[in-house]
Amino acid sequence: MNKKTKKRKDSRTTKLTFKLMLLVLMIIIASEILTFTAIIIIGYVGGGTNDTTEILGSIIASIIIGGLLAIILGNFVLHPLNELIRATRKVTRGDYTAHLNMGWNEKHTVNELNQLISMFNKMTEELNNTEMFRKDFIANFSHEFKTPLASIRGFARQLHEGDLTPEQQKEFSKIIMDEAEYLSVLASNTLLLTNIENRNIVSERTEFSLDEQLRNCMLRLEPQWSAKDLDIEMDMDEVMFYWNEQLLAHVWNNLLDNAVKFTNNGGSITVSCHEADGIITVKVRDSGTGIPREAVPHIFEKFYQADKSHATKGNGLGLPLVKRIVNLCGGDISVQSTVGVGTEFTVRLKNARR
Ligand code: ADP
Repeated sequence: MNKKTKKRKDSRTTKLTFKLMLLVLMIIIASEILTFTAIIIIGYVGGGTNDTTEILGSIIASIIIGGLLAIILGNFVLHPLNELIRATRKVTRGDYTAHLNMGWNEKHTVNELNQLISMFNKMTEELNNTEMFRKDFIANFSHEFKTPLASIRGFARQLHEGDLTPEQQKEFSKIIMDEAEYLSVLASNTLLLTNIENRNIVSERTEFSLDEQLRNCMLRLEPQWSAKDLDIEMDMDEVMFYWNEQLLAHVWNNLLDNAVKFTNNGGSITVSCHEADGIITVKVRDSGTGIPREAVPHIFEKFYQADKSHATKGNGLGLPLVKRIVNLCGGDISVQSTVGVGTEFTVRLKNARR
């Protein structure tokens, strides 16, 4: 918290304390005056003599009745504060669902109290969201982690027990290698995602050739697209870009990896990169399976996979990572897809030279 905000909050708290004290004091004085006047009037109408004992009696009666009235009114005024204390106690116990709903009393005469209540509600909402997100993330992560681990354990045990044909040995060790690779990708994606989610500034910027980076990422996947006999087309302008080269490579690696993964044998992938008016547009288009319309809004969510059978290898962290990096870079990403026709991802980046 910077000094200015702290100062503003301190002065707001002092103002609130002062206003509350003033309000309670006013209630006490008003109750006393009202009761005293009422007693005097009643005594006068009832034909009282206004002698000293009677006045003294009136004062004592007004103190008692006024005091009681002040307690009742004070309680009414301080009710939101009591609610706030009760709700804060809930939060300290780890219950972030606490919400202050003051009903008809919601709009309080002390403006600072209204602000305090609405800030408290906002705070618990945020805490609750973070907590739900954390629980969700852990549940998904452990699920993604446990399945390959169980498979590694099972196949390793069979290999250890022996009595397998050479083909089986080869097959089982290949499964173990694949699952270990999957776990390694899962771990590094999770680490990278948590790392970049918590930062807004990207260091280690250099100027590099974006078209060359795209070509290299495509080349890295040569074994996969060759095996599927895919037709690869690259339509590139020469574009220099100034940013973190390593981080941006994750974007292309993930998009191209998906394009290859979700395109059937003999299909095609087209990558284009053009710059106009300081905006770089990179498109990755494939003639693959496409994404069902109802799945499109979810593909950038963590651990989301449109194909629930998990027939294609993946962990659902690729696109959230892509989106976060593109946003960090000040750009945006969009997708167009038709089932059975293909998918096109468009990344737009601002080319801010150094
Ligand atoms: P995964 O590790 O499963 O590839 P991603 O976050 O990269 O995770 O993608 C999330 C989901 O989006 C994929 O599981 C898939 O259902 C869908 N998807 C992403 N790219 C494509 C594509 N090019 N073609 C078809 N579906 C895709």
